[in-house]
This record gives sequence, structure tokens and C-alpha cells, in this order.
Amino acid sequence: MGYAEVSVNSPIAQRRTFSYAIPPGLSIDVGQAVSVPFGDKLLQGIVLELSDYPAVEETREIAAVIEPYPLLSPAQISLARWLSEYYLSPLFDAVALMLPPGFERKALTFISPLPIPADFDLSSLTPEQKQFLQLVQKQDKINLKELEKTLGKKKVQTIVSQLVRQGLLARSYQLEPIKIRAKKELYLSLAVKAGEAQQEAARLREKRALKQAVLLDFLSRQSEPVPWTEARQKVNSNKAVVDALDSKGLVAVQQIEVRREPISYLGIKPSHPLTLTTAQKSAFESIKSSLLQMTKGQTRPPVFLLHGVTGSGKTEVYLQALAEAVRLGKRGIALVPEIALTPQTIERFASRFPHKVAVLHSKLSLGEQFDEWQRIRKGEFDVVIGPRSALFAPQPELGLIVIDEEHEWTYKQHDKSPRYHTRDAAIKLAELTGAVVILGSATPDVETFYHAQRGDYRLLQLPERVTPNEGSPLPQVEVIDLKDELKAGNRSLFSGALSQVVAKAVASGEQVLLFLNRRGAATFIQCRSCGFVLRCKRCEVALTYHSAEEVLVCHQCNYSIPSPQVCPRCLSRRIKFLGIGTQKLEQEAGYTFPQARLLRWDSDTTKQKYSHQEILSKFRAHEADILIGTQMIAKGLDLPLVTLVGVVSADTGLNLPDFRAGERTFQLLSQVAGRAGRGTLGGQVIIQTYSPEHYVIQAAAKQDYTSFYDKEITYRRQLHNPPFARLARLIYSHTNDTLCQREAEKMKRLLIEESEAKGIDDLSLIGPAPAFIHRLRGRFRWQLILRGSDPSTFLSQIPIPPGWTVDIDPIGLS
Ligand code: ADP
Ligand code: ZN
Ligand code: ZN
Repeated sequence: MGYAEVSVNSPIAQRRTFSYAIPPGLSIDVGQAVSVPFGDKLLQGIVLELSDYPAVEETREIAAVIEPYPLLSPAQISLARWLSEYYLSPLFDAVALMLPPGFERKALTFISPLPIPADFDLSSLTPEQKQFLQLVQKQDKINLKELEKTLGKKKVQTIVSQLVRQGLLARSYQLEPIKIRAKKELYLSLAVKAGEAQQEAARLREKRALKQAVLLDFLSRQSEPVPWTEARQKVNSNKAVVDALDSKGLVAVQQIEVRREPISYLGIKPSHPLTLTTAQKSAFESIKSSLLQMTKGQTRPPVFLLHGVTGSGKTEVYLQALAEAVRLGKRGIALVPEIALTPQTIERFASRFPHKVAVLHSKLSLGEQFDEWQRIRKGEFDVVIGPRSALFAPQPELGLIVIDEEHEWTYKQHDKSPRYHTRDAAIKLAELTGAVVILGSATPDVETFYHAQRGDYRLLQLPERVTPNEGSPLPQVEVIDLKDELKAGNRSLFSGALSQVVAKAVASGEQVLLFLNRRGAATFIQCRSCGFVLRCKRCEVALTYHSAEEVLVCHQCNYSIPSPQVCPRCLSRRIKFLGIGTQKLEQEAGYTFPQARLLRWDSDTTKQKYSHQEILSKFRAHEADILIGTQMIAKGLDLPLVTLVGVVSADTGLNLPDFRAGERTFQLLSQVAGRAGRGTLGGQVIIQTYSPEHYVIQAAAKQDYTSFYDKEITYRRQLHNPPFARLARLIYSHTNDTLCQREAEKMKRLLIEESEAKGIDDLSLIGPAPAFIHRLRGRFRWQLILRGSDPSTFLSQIPIPPGWTVDIDPIGLS
């Protein structure tokens, strides 16, 4: 008898697998989905390993096989195990990333009546129990959910438990039915010979049944059945017409199974590879030779960092590298940040690989995702494109993984387990499959660039735009010192320079973006005379103002001081609480530019599914002159009429209590600057700030990544921040704030004890402190930051009590 190690879909399972016996006659493969008994339930699970011996003495048997073929490849199984171990996530959560859409099914509970024992005294039952028993006895099996719906959950559960205990009812379990089915469409064809149909059509015409005649004529000219939706459009028909022809026996109506295709290739012309520039060619050649080496069985595939500004031709390099992989008999996965998955991006890939591109993303219907997943598994596509989750597509013969805009924070799954970083998961998967990885960015993540500098990754540079002299040079960036504005008596949000150029642009029929680098509602305080921002002595991050207690608090270590009345540096009394929002900005813009038509775009105005598309197309159609927004407007927009971008305040982002605040601000400012001058009109960028001398502002103004990186990496080294250490963020959340703090203190003691007991001396703890978003959906949150060379391994040996979430390599501390 053989045994299987199964990852079971139960919250109890955590990071473990469970041993099951394989019953005789059942053939089981690694990666296959099975249903297994677990406690008194029947659950779904995935076989991760086969063995001759069980890991425990007592095993139960696998109940059934769910799908005849394996759902996970051996490489994916190893990846799932790594995700679960490294990110400390339940194993099934990691496995679930790789399962077909709609796979997960809950266990349903059924109850059935048992024969009543001869010696049972029915009069011992309450009237309620008796009534219930009679109800159940009328059927042989009832879904418990249905009963709960009509009779109330609590009541049903109590009675069922009582009757089960007395041996009068039995519970049984079954997986809920499959949610997704193949899609069927109505097709029309002739039920008679074409000649006969045409005679009939003529007769119908005489009888003035014109619509029937036209449809019949149309069908008599088709060689194959026609989809009803197509026929209806072409001859302007309706369902009554079809029914009439059907009842006369002239037309046959059939349901035919169709594929749901997320990409419409209508209107997409095939495109051909461009002749590469010198820089592109040298990057491409390096990638090409690595791809070739990998097919010859080299063991460790390289990771490339393709560093080049927007418009430097990175995408063209991806496309040609993918084509090369395909030529070598391999396939690729191309990942883009969620927001970049626009029709234009998909079109660009689809036109280079006609009918060979799969898209996977959450906006598709479950059915579309399911169909696409199945076709990917069968090897129908050269390239799978999608957001981070597309990394787990069942793409066979994986040879190349591209991650575009690799610095984007959407690549980290932070809101649910496993809290993985796509970049690290991709590199792991590449190691397991022998695939080459290309990371591309104009402003690489500081950690990525550090690895490239050290030679862990191979650095490829595209220093210039492909067409530097043809209308889209990098725009001019001007930094405005807001302290000077105040000295000159200007208290508005707009400096003299900014309001002048905005007015001018609007008057000449051009468009303007006004950008406020703002996140969250918390405020920091800044001196309006000298620009000084109060920072934590230990963590260097800006202190956050808590208005209720009138104190300033460090959101990393909980250091706190009373809110000062005067600036500690220049003794000025003009201390300002910063935290302006886009709403305020819209108001002021309305006063300052009464002629301009305004449009606001932020997460408040885009709560509905498609409204950001609507806002965007309105703006593109020049129905507004000024678009006001948060960082969302910085990303991937191509707006040819925009000649001016104004960053109203660069300081809000810069002073977030997070060691990555500088990096993030640099990335955002670089991106916004890239928005100006996309068209032939040229462009201008104005950055307003109280800290014009800050290295982030300086580097962003010059659009100089290297000078930013050099400073940033020095600070990271000094303060022992990544990449010089790894972090883990532990958050405890509860409705009671004091309890949170107490639990966090308790956890801190536990972690210190453990690290001392194990003799680990490179671990340090920061906090506990209230999390930056201290209160979320009615629950308070306290956090502890653990810093060391390997906090994941350390934490994996500690039982983490419920109520805590652990985030390894957190993307932000705020
Ligand atoms: P990136 O991905 O770095 O933003 P793209 O690959 O999108 O850059 O290239 C920017 C523009 O230049 C696109 O319109 C693209 O078609 C064009 N382009 C890219 N490479 C070449 C080339 N070798 N010759 C001509 N045009 C090119
Ligand atoms: Zn001051
Ligand atoms: Zn601090």
C-alpha cells in the first residue's frame, strides 16, 4: 500500500501536510487534487508527495480523486513549500495560488435520519425535537444550510447536535458542486437545403415576412453554423424571428460549447520586431546567450536588471527576449503592475504573438479565468501576461519570466497570506525551472539595484530614450522653495511660479496634472520658517502628530514628546501641521483658476469599478483642463495634451514614518515627471517643497537615479535597514487598544527570551508602537519590527499566538 502527503484546505493544517493511505485501485500522482476525510469533514487537498511509509501510525484513506490530471507541477509544489516556509503562511494558502480559478469548494453538511432503536423512548424528546425529527424523516438527506435558512442557525445547530448525540440523526459531508461550467452559445444553421431555403425566403417576402426572409437568406449563404449574436447584428434580427423559422422547420437552433476569450484580436494587426538600438542590442544579446545556455542545462539561471527610463525601449527588449525563448522551445510569463494591465499593454503583446498570449487577471469573469487557465496548462500560449498572480499560471516549459516596473509595491501581497514578494517568488521559481528572469524599471528598487551592483544580478542599462530628439525629450524640472513663498507673503497652496504656468497652459488649451503626494490621514509637523521636520532620534523617521494627546509619536519605536510650541531649530512660532488632501487642493484650485475645468482622481472618487477609466477618458477627450490626483495619476498614463505637471507638495510623502519614504518619493516624482511632455508639445514639471536641498528632491529634479541610489544606500547601511538586514513586521490587532499594547509587550519579551536562549545576537526589536494606521475598521493595531539576518527562520520556530499577523520583508512599515 502507498501513502500520500496531502496539503489539506483547513485552517487547522497550518504549515503541515497530512499522511493518507492510497486505497487499492486508486492511482494517485504528485500534484493531484483529492478529497480526504479530515476530522468529521471531507475536505479538498493536494498531494505533495508519495511515499511507501506513512509519517504517522494511524492513517485514513483518500476518499476520491477530484481531477484526473495533476494540477501542480513538481516545481510549483517546491515553490508552494518555499512560500509557506519563508513567509510563514499556511501551506494550503500557498498551494491555492496555483490552483485553477474557482477550484476551491467548501464542504457541505448533510443530515439524514437513522432508524429509531426499539428501546428508545420517544416521549423523552421535547416537542421541538420531535417536530424537527419528523421533518427530517420525510427525506433521506437534507442540506443543513437550507434548514438553517428557514429555521435559524443557532436553533438548528443545537437540535441537530442533541439528536446526533442520541443516535437519531447522522451527519455526512460532501464538497459543494463545481461553480464553473463551460460556456455555451446559441448557433443557427439551416434545417433544409440551401436552394429550398432561398425559395422559402422568396415566399416569405411575398407574404411581407421580411425579417424572416432576410435571416433565412443570410443563413443560406453560410457554410457553417453562425453564432446567434453575430447573425442578429448582421441582419438586424430578433429572437421572435428565429422562433418563427424554427417552428416552420427551416432553421436549426443548437447550443454549442464556446471558449471564453479575454483578448479580442479583432483590429489587432500583427507587429514585427524593431531593429534594436545599440544599447537594446547589447542588452538583448546578453539575455539571448543566457537563454541558450539554459537550454544546455546550466544549473543556475541568471537574473537580469534592465534599467532604463520610460521610453528607452525596455518593452521591445522583453518582446524580443520572449520570442527568442519561444524559438528555443520555451514559453514565458510577463508580469506587470495591476494598473499597467491596460488594453494598450495587452495589445502590444498580442500583436507580437498573435493568438499566443493569455491574460489572467481579476477583472475577468471566473469562467474566462478558468478557460484561460486550462488552455495555458495545455501549452496553447507562448506568453502569459498578468499581474502578480499570473506568476503561478501553469505555463509549461517555462523559460523566461519578465517583471516590468519591478519596483512597484503591488508586487508584494500584503493584505492576505501568503504575504509574498513576486520578485523573490519569481527568482525562486526560475531556479526550480531553469528560467531566466528579467527585472525592468526606470527607478529600480534600492535592494534590487544593490544586488545588481554586487553582481548577484546582471545589470543591463538603456541610458536614453529611443527617440531622444523627436519631440519627447525628458521634461524640464524646476524645484520651488515654499519657504521663499511664505517670506513673500504667499499662503496659498500654489507658488507664484506654479500658478503662472498653470494659468498659461490652460489659456493655451493645454492640460495640467496637479499631483499631491499624500497617503493616509496622519499629519506631521513642520516649521514654515526653516522647513525643519521633527524626527525620531533613534529611527530618523518623521514623528506623527496625535491631536488628542497633543504629542508627537514615532510610529516605529513609540518614542514620544510633547508637541512643541516653537521650532526647536530656529525658534519660530510658525509651526504647521501638514496633511492637506486632494479635496482641499481641488477647492483652492477652483479659486485660483476660475476659468479651468477641474477633475479629481483619487481613491475616494474611484470607489466604483470603472470610474477611473471614465475619469481618464473624460480627461483624454479634453473635457477638463486640470486633473488633480494622488499617486494614482503618476502611473502609466499617456496623455499627449499634458504639458505641465505640478507637484503641489513633495514633503507629505517624504515625511512618512518609514525608512522607504525617500525611495518611494523618488520613484513617484520620477514617474510624475515622466507624465509631462509625452506628446509633441514638450513638457515642464514643477515640484513645490519646503526641503529643496533634500537629496531625494535634488535627484528627482535631475532625474538622476544613481545620485539618489548612492545617498540612499549609505543611509540604509548606517541604519541597518534592508538590504543590510531583513525585517519582519508583526501586527497585533484587537478592538481594545490597551490589550493590543499588552500583547505586543508580551510578544516582545517572548522574542527576546527566545533569541537569548538560542544565542542569536544579530536580532534587534523595534517597538512595540501603534501602527501608522493605528485604527483600521474598528480594530486597533500595534506593531513590532524584528530586524536581523534571518527573522523568518527565527520566527518559524516560535508558536505565534492567534491575533498576530506576520509579514516577512514588509514593503512598508507605515
Ligand atoms: P519602455 O518599455 O522602456 O518604456 P518601449 O519599448 O515602450 O520603452 O519603447 C518606447 C517607444 O519606442 C515605443 O513607441 C516603441 O515602439 C519605440 N521603440 C522601441 N524600440 C525601438 C527601436 N529599436 N526602434 C524604433 N522604435 C523603438
Ligand atoms: Zn524652524
Ligand atoms: Zn523611533
